[in-house]
Amino acid sequence: MNTSLDFRAVDLPDSTKDLRQEVRDFVAHIQPQINALPDSNFDADSSKWFSQQLGAKGWIGMTWPKVYGGGGRSFLERFVVTEELVAAGLPVGFHWIADRQSGPVLLRYGSEEQKQQILPQIIKGEACFCIGMSEPDSGSDLAAARCSAKRTDQGWLINGTKLWTTGAHHADYMIALVRTEAGGDDRHAGFSQFLIDLKTPGVEIRSIPNLAGKHTFNEVVFTDFYCPDSGLLGEQGNGWEQVMSELAFERSGPERILSAYRVLVELLRELNGEVDDRQAEVIGKLSAHIIALRRMSISVALMLEEGKNPALEASVVKDLGTNFEKMMPEMLRLVAPINTSERFQETLKSAILHAPSFTLRGGTREILRGVIARGLGLR
Ligand SMILES: Cc1cc2nc3c(=O)[nH]c(=O)nc-3n(C[C@H](O)[C@H](O)[C@H](O)COP(=O)(O)OP(=O)(O)OC[C@H]3O[C@@H](n4cnc5c(N)ncnc54)[C@H](O)[C@@H]3O)c2cc1C
Repeated sequence: MNTSLDFRAVDLPDSTKDLRQEVRDFVAHIQPQINALPDSNFDADSSKWFSQQLGAKGWIGMTWPKVYGGGGRSFLERFVVTEELVAAGLPVGFHWIADRQSGPVLLRYGSEEQKQQILPQIIKGEACFCIGMSEPDSGSDLAAARCSAKRTDQGWLINGTKLWTTGAHHADYMIALVRTEAGGDDRHAGFSQFLIDLKTPGVEIRSIPNLAGKHTFNEVVFTDFYCPDSGLLGEQGNGWEQVMSELAFERSGPERILSAYRVLVELLRELNGEVDDRQAEVIGKLSAHIIALRRMSISVALMLEEGKNPALEASVVKDLGTNFEKMMPEMLRLVAPINTSERFQETLKSAILHAPSFTLRGGTREILRGVIARGLGLR
């Protein structure tokens, strides 16, 4: 890991402008269809149909090798697509985890058979993934995870519980961190990752309502669950190193800055150009933060493009970005006019109810600050 930060004042190249326009045209075309989806149980954050439309455009697995059906495009181009989708508030949940981290983990550590079988499904928007890291007594302290796998003649016998598993109720697969040997003095030793097919018997997925009353995360219980030998992902015992590289993918994208961006857009719509001094000051401040954070996030995308490991910079972006997006709805609420539309109120309500989770998911701020301090050689 670096002991200094490698942020650069970069912007996206002009060559990405046409792509941005193409995504905006697509968003304008698809937004009314999403609003009109007939399913009354439609979960606004996740839609297989929407992910399939994106897959058809070539916007899932954009940076992955063409040999698996990927786009072979740059991380900066991927940045443009993800930024536009998040800013528009589209339901990206079905493919998001697979595109952001599970696919890259499979590319780096997966067997040829796993890559050939799974990556094309993700790219088409057909396979949904969830993250099996946290457990009932193991969140920040991931090395305390107790979910275990024992080798048997019929495959790996898995027992244990994963917690706060976002989207497990939609997911086809989980990449789970599981203990395969005792760690001894080294708490990080003895872990392995498994690619688990969630449609196999022996898995129970129980819903946990979030603060907004929505079903987004779950408790996933494995009871005498058999995973075939082919489900071992990467090297046995190398799980800790693999999971750390997975977290680096999770921590720096536009979704760590823009979770509450829709509130700003809806407020501007509401104000319709009539902005008083107090509103101008808050909107100006928030915009300046967004511009700076966005540049930092682009800088991380550039490091990925250059094949560097941006774990430290990604932690900085996540810490600053999620603190910013957490305070954004409250700052906008304080300057919103008294009589606002239902549309604005619903957007604000949703952002306020979800905001406490922004700094928790993907690693809490205390943990990130520990990572940053260690990375900079400060402790
Ligand atoms: C919306 C959302 C979605 C999530 N999705 C997933 C998912 O899909 N898959 C998954 O595996 N997990 C998921 N999580 C779980 C998330 O990773 C954990 O909540 C997070 O890592 C914190 O763990 P914890 O909840 O057990 O809290 P704890 O680890 O118990 O922490 C409680 C508090 O103590 C602080 N703390 C803990 N240790 C230290 C320390 N050493 N030094 C200083 N302070 C410390 C923490 O910062 C926190 O403020 C999700 C969480 C949320 C909120």
